[in-house]
Amino acid sequence: MKLTEIGEFGFIDRVAPLGSVRSEGVVKGIGDDCAVIEIPGPDYLLMTTDLVIEGVHFHRDWGSPEQIGKRALAANISDIAACGGIPRDAFISIAVPHKVEVEWLDALYQGMAELARLHQVNLLGGDTTGSRTDLMINIALTGLVPGSEALFRHTAQAGDIIVVTGPTGESGAGCELLLNKVDLPGDIAQRLIRAHLEPRPHVEEGRLLASSGACTAAIDVSDGLSSDLGHLCADSGLGAVLYEASIPVSPELIAAGSAMGKDPLHWVMHGGEDYVLLAAVRSDALHMLAEQFRSRGLTLTPIGEFVPGRGIVLQRRDGSSTDLARGGWDHFR
Ligand code: ADP
Ligand code: MG
Repeated sequence: MKLTEIGEFGFIDRVAPLGSVRSEGVVKGIGDDCAVIEIPGPDYLLMTTDLVIEGVHFHRDWGSPEQIGKRALAANISDIAACGGIPRDAFISIAVPHKVEVEWLDALYQGMAELARLHQVNLLGGDTTGSRTDLMINIALTGLVPGSEALFRHTAQAGDIIVVTGPTGESGAGCELLLNKVDLPGDIAQRLIRAHLEPRPHVEEGRLLASSGACTAAIDVSDGLSSDLGHLCADSGLGAVLYEASIPVSPELIAAGSAMGKDPLHWVMHGGEDYVLLAAVRSDALHMLAEQFRSRGLTLTPIGEFVPGRGIVLQRRDGSSTDLARGGWDHFR
């Protein structure tokens, strides 16, 4: 059987049952943004790891080594944020082909160290090996979250409001701009490319959601809104309705859409690597929480609601409805 037949998530489902031989102390194993583990004291330990590979996740000529380093760490910090936690300690492993110079690696680490400093993350270890062809970076990151505040994917309730902590789609559009020569005003192209190369992990947003007591589930948008909402729905045993008119679409995305002859909604729904948070919030607390976000200069945008059943329905501006197929990133499809 080929991996294309079951996809990335089908493969993870196959290995998940092999995972746990000792359930004591494991609050959540395979199947969420982080593993959640009991430790002495009021906090849970969070643990996540991500692997990025040259040619698959990044191209060395697309951005600076500092950006590549920051982005690799940002993806991990984002998973901690999705569980409502704060990041703590990182372990960085690299497989380096001969063509990569020491100065380039120094700059990669400068980028990682800069983002690590911003979030008070220690770099505590890792591993270094050679690679025949491509550069690979694997980061493992721990975090902490108060035990009563940890956010999971499987706990959304019907009637909860679906919220995002920032726009989606800009990173996907930025990636396409890097792949294709497109005639766009410089500042627009720059903003979209920056969204792709320098995503900001939403740690403050995650803490606000988690400490509010009003957030019932969360995930970070790494594979695309449709795919990551699909995870929240499947794991919570729910369906969802999205309201097109409520979903943020930036003017830059609209401009890129018309320059490339594409519907910007495609990037918004399926783009990926936005690293904003997608969450479920109790409807009676939405207003209060949105106000808290606003008072800190952050955004919380309601875009739909969880409903009993299965599948995601997109209610269009013209009143029509379409079933939203999962179109986000899957490494094998
Ligand atoms: P994210 O996009 O949030 O990083 P993933 O989709 O990569 O999450 O992973 C989903 C879940 O599957 C996580 O719990 C992750 O630890 C687990 N996982 C992914 N790949 C493997 C693997 N090869 N072996 C065991 N667990 C895995
Ligand atoms: Mg994630």
